[in-house]
Amino acid sequence: MENKQYPFYIDPKLCKKCGLCIAFCPTKVYITGEDDLPKIEHPEKCISCKMCFYRCPDFAIRLKPEVA
Ligand code: SF4
Ligand code: SF4
Repeated sequence: MENKQYPFYIDPKLCKKCGLCIAFCPTKVYITGEDDLPKIEHPEKCISCKMCFYRCPDFAIRLKPEVA
């Protein structure tokens, strides 16, 4: 089931696995995945604050084209 509220995707080629998005998300949308990439575990909890988007130092968190 797609959640329209969560507006991002994570580009694994750009992500450096720093964990900032996991740490700064106020509602704990992300967990650390098995590959150490952030995993979008609870998209339904996203409040669209964009903290993850602005904190990511590598621009790996991108707005989905349909909401950009
Ligand atoms: S926009 Fe905010 S609530 Fe949603 S995943 Fe990013 S940091 Fe978490
Ligand atoms: S903040 Fe960006 S580079 Fe760091 S783990 Fe999250 S998506 Fe990857």
